Amino acid sequence: MAMESYQSDVVIVGGGLAGLAAAFELLDQNLKVLLLERDIPEHLGGLARESFGGVMLVDTPLQRRARIADSSELALADWLRVARFSDDDHWPRRWAELYVNRSIELIYQWLTSRSVTFLPVVNWPERGMFEPHNSVPRWHIAWGTGKALVEALLHHLENHPNRARLEICFGHRVEELFVQTGMVKGCAGIREVDGSSFIASADAVLLSAGGICGGDLSRVRRHWYKPWGNPPERLLNGSHRNADGLIHDAAATVGARLTHLDRQWHYAAGIPHPRQAGKGLSLVPPRSALWLNAHGERMGPPPLVGYTDTRYLVEQICRQPGQFSWQVLNWKIAIKELAVSGCDYMTAFRDRSKLRLLRELLFGNRELVRTLLNESTELVTANSLDELVAAMNALEAEFRVDGELLKTEVKAYDAQIERGERFFTDDQLRRIASARRYRGDRLRTCRFQKIDDPQARPLIAIREQILSRKSLGGVQTDLSCRVLDNTGEPIPGLFAAGETAGFGGGGIHGVGALEGTFLGGCILTGRIAGRAINGETL
Ligand SMILES: Cc1cc2nc3c(=O)[nH]c(=O)nc-3n(C[C@H](O)[C@H](O)[C@H](O)COP(=O)(O)OP(=O)(O)OC[C@H]3O[C@@H](n4cnc5c(N)ncnc54)[C@H](O)[C@@H]3O)c2cc1C
Repeated sequence: MAMESYQSDVVIVGGGLAGLAAAFELLDQNLKVLLLERDIPEHLGGLARESFGGVMLVDTPLQRRARIADSSELALADWLRVARFSDDDHWPRRWAELYVNRSIELIYQWLTSRSVTFLPVVNWPERGMFEPHNSVPRWHIAWGTGKALVEALLHHLENHPNRARLEICFGHRVEELFVQTGMVKGCAGIREVDGSSFIASADAVLLSAGGICGGDLSRVRRHWYKPWGNPPERLLNGSHRNADGLIHDAAATVGARLTHLDRQWHYAAGIPHPRQAGKGLSLVPPRSALWLNAHGERMGPPPLVGYTDTRYLVEQICRQPGQFSWQVLNWKIAIKELAVSGCDYMTAFRDRSKLRLLRELLFGNRELVRTLLNESTELVTANSLDELVAAMNALEAEFRVDGELLKTEVKAYDAQIERGERFFTDDQLRRIASARRYRGDRLRTCRFQKIDDPQARPLIAIREQILSRKSLGGVQTDLSCRVLDNTGEPIPGLFAAGETAGFGGGGIHGVGALEGTFLGGCILTGRIAGRAINGETL
């Protein structure tokens, strides 16, 4: 079979959000661009296409309109507290500064000028468990979720005046980079359709092939964060099936420095994806549910509550027997608070149906709960606590829920609610009270809902596993997205952006994230890389 060969000014490896952002900038400069994408055309845009479309932005008109006083200084202080950068994290820290200082200009305005709109109510995840994380709401939801965001960008890319300068080759898996006289001059790989080889030559190569958190879970386990102990046996892939680290290996082979691969952003409430074999679905854990371990014991103190500190939740669950958990709730809590991260199941957001969204906010998302109950094996229902425990034990083969223990936990929690808000000492209830003071959360959080409430039945239990989602570490770059070697020197001709580059500098987040910084980081690094390849700055 003859080897296909391509020639271009620049090769982009991977057509996710970072690769697309770079393509815009390169076309703006009239460069000839070859985008090599392993996936099929319908998946162009990568993970961003299935994302919820939440973008972390600082001091936007939407925040101002809602009288949310944000600033770069406040955001940076929050970021640094969560990141816990070490002295070695020079480039990640510089990227973090750049993000908070220029998110309006480089992310918000870029998106809105490409027809992306945001919901007026800014969300507030990651408030922190023991110290402030996001001091104020900053998570801006793209109307229509990540799907609409990607479609808007693709529409503009298709209509770019230099569109003819962009060639996109699908089903092309890049496996190696080649170097000539000390410079990266292209890459080579396999066409997935027939296994034939191809080679692509260019003056520069941009690596934007995503992270290492999905395609190969053995890699996630190999780089598991040591202080958390052993990786869970039950682990779900919540990332891209092509996020297998192949490109990281190729970069390392030509001398690139890989940093912080053990820093990964996992979620605590995953279930096997009912519609996609081998994948996980990340639930947004309801605040009013009781979070129990494999034996039915409430985890803590302090009790685990969603929207606080994702990293802490994951760490605590990983220390429990079986390293998985149960959330126990009821119909009333589920329809108000249960949500799914991503666009698949959040159809009112995805389809931009204002009417449906309003109805769901007022009367609950019955459609979602019914769908999950129908499609997933991980949700069980019952009309009494005894029945619920029996259903949980029928589902779980390895660990038994202790019925008496579970009932004691539920009764103690419900009794607090019965006594009234003035007497709350339970940390979960105090957090719920605090969340309800913010407009964006009031409608989506129950007003102190008892679990074993005959008016709120059926009771529901959800068995949840850790879901692997994002690689916080990656190929180290400087502020121009130039890939650095182990001595800190740029490797000529090689650039990296998006999740491959740890969203900037090989780990812009440090150990933890404020959320929404992943999509934002892809746009930021992709755009800057696209300019830097031609020696320009933004
Ligand atoms: C369900 C879900 C919800 C999310 N919600 C949010 C959110 O609300 N906010 C947020 O900030 N982040 C969110 N994220 C994370 C965010 O979507 C990703 O971190 C981001 O889109 C990564 O973009 P990327 O361009 O770096 O990589 P990817 O999107 O992974 O794209 C990489 C591309 O490279 C291709 N590729 C891989 N290997 C090769 C190879 N060897 N050769 C050629 N091509 C290759 C892949 O096929 C893929 O198309 C979510 C993620 C998921 C899965």
